[in-house]
Amino acid sequence: MGKRIVIALGGNALGENLPEQMAAARGTARAIADLIQAGHEVVVAHGNGPQVGMIQKAMAELTRSDPERYIPCPLSVCVAMSQGYIGYDLQNALREELMDRGIDKGVATVLTQVEVDPADPAFQHPTKPIGAFMTQAEAEEMRRRGNPVMEDAGRGWRRVVASPKPVSIVEIKSIRDMVAAGLVVVACGGGGIPVVREGCRLRGVSAVIDKDFASARLAQMIGADYLVILTAVERVAVNYAKPDQRWLSRISVEEARAYIAQGQFAPGSMLPKVE
Ligand code: ADP
Ligand code: MG
Repeated sequence: MGKRIVIALGGNALGENLPEQMAAARGTARAIADLIQAGHEVVVAHGNGPQVGMIQKAMAELTRSDPERYIPCPLSVCVAMSQGYIGYDLQNALREELMDRGIDKGVATVLTQVEVDPADPAFQHPTKPIGAFMTQAEAEEMRRRGNPVMEDAGRGWRRVVASPKPVSIVEIKSIRDMVAAGLVVVACGGGGIPVVREGCRLRGVSAVIDKDFASARLAQMIGADYLVILTAVERVAVNYAKPDQRWLSRISVEEARAYIAQGQFAPGSMLPKVE
């Protein structure tokens, strides 16, 4: 009996530039096609760290080149662009792989908005550095325009945004209908485009939702049997990168909670996956 599987691809697993991403997407498509061929329903989610950084930098340079003509591009729009661009590569890689195997299945990317709570405490404490490094003078200008900035580990100044928890997925009904119709769906890219609800309207906000939390929400909301999170390491470790490092292969929820309490998993990278 086929299972419903959500697969979350790590942002860095998609490479740092355009040709790297296309090659990585091809390799990923083979693994995903194996699952589809075995009769499972697959929904693909993915990160966007390097890509959204690249897009944001390009848009910021455009504004700098001619501020009269190009007003700054909101972060939510940059996330939407990254979903389109990554979805384009994944969609084509999957389409080709399925066709090569004689599997007739549609593949479609859903630009996904994820609702966050404007009262989420994360908004009071922005923690996630994003985009290009700036000089102190550029950082001051950025702050003056209402965007928080911070010094990032001695490497220069960067914008810093909140990382609120996903509350709900706006396009969930479309995603469910597409899965039910037998399509392979790519959704929730980069954790989703963060929005807050204002009556019937949605307003994009300057935030980044962790793609692991968004993928977990997606898996819950479509009643998935499995959530698979792929990243740059083969396994989760305790005492990670220390001489007594030990790789884990199978743990209970109680053990996971105990390791979290010991601070075994780095916040913003491994911790959200284990949580
Ligand atoms: P992704 O884009 O896949 O979400 P992240 O960089 O956010 O990637 O998180 C995965 C990374 O977390 C791993 O590549 C590894 O470098 C790091 N990491 C931190 N703590 C651990 C740990 N305890 N075990 C394994 N990897 C860890
Ligand atoms: Mg991550």
